[in-house]
Amino acid sequence: MAFSFVQLADPQFGMFAALSGFNNPDTEKLVRSGLILPRCSKIEGFEYETKRYSKAINLANQINPSFVVTCGDMCNDKIDPTYEYAELMRITSELNKDIPMHWVSGNHDVSNTPTDQLLTRYRGMYGNDVYSFDVENCHFVVLNSTVCQDPSNVWDEWIKQVKFLESDLKKARSSDVRHIIVFTHHPPFLIHADEGDNWLVIPKDRRLVLIDLFIKYGVSHIFSGHWHRNHHSYFEGLEIVVSSSVGYPLGPDPSGIRIVNVDDNTISHEFLSLE
Ligand SMILES: [Zn+2]
Repeated sequence: MAFSFVQLADPQFGMFAALSGFNNPDTEKLVRSGLILPRCSKIEGFEYETKRYSKAINLANQINPSFVVTCGDMCNDKIDPTYEYAELMRITSELNKDIPMHWVSGNHDVSNTPTDQLLTRYRGMYGNDVYSFDVENCHFVVLNSTVCQDPSNVWDEWIKQVKFLESDLKKARSSDVRHIIVFTHHPPFLIHADEGDNWLVIPKDRRLVLIDLFIKYGVSHIFSGHWHRNHHSYFEGLEIVVSSSVGYPLGPDPSGIRIVNVDDNTISHEFLSLE
């Protein structure tokens, strides 16, 4: 078994315009929280995101992976993503037809506190938000980490997701898969599974439920986004990989894509800059 896949995160059409302009209160808030933002005068549209996402799709066509996965925040506008979504899909249609795209929901796609209506809207736009698939001898699970972050309006979705995860991982582990890999938008944690809660990660109460299942059934990697910068951590055989955004970066890393090479014994990955 030897194949590759390409991971994208946060193309987030519309984010650059939303954070443009000097004295923008949203931008100031992010800067005060310690993030590094490219400042510019007020702009409209999504030229910035179009250029980078087009490059990402072109690069994926050249790499010719078994699939591409986009780990959330496809569009920036939580209320009406119509125009951003149209541009996202126009460019996605340039991906070679034999390379499947797997979508992962982010907090901008289902809002920070998802509701049944917002989850229904998401599923109409991108398909299922919690599912799994196989490539060769490798099992992949896609989770909705925003439901894990704040399930206050959709508790049944959180419970359903945990049930799905447990039965799916159990089934995969009892077959002869070589690797189990999970995709989320929010990383479960940044440094340690026991760390405190913040907007970047899944809160500890629910994080530990997931981590227990990941470790019990031998998940080796979690690939996520949301932070708009690169980061790695390790916990009991589990590697957490946070990838910088395709769109607007919020840290020292450029926008880019991650190529992941999988064979029987190893999973290696490399981040490629789009700048
Ligand atoms: Zn996000």
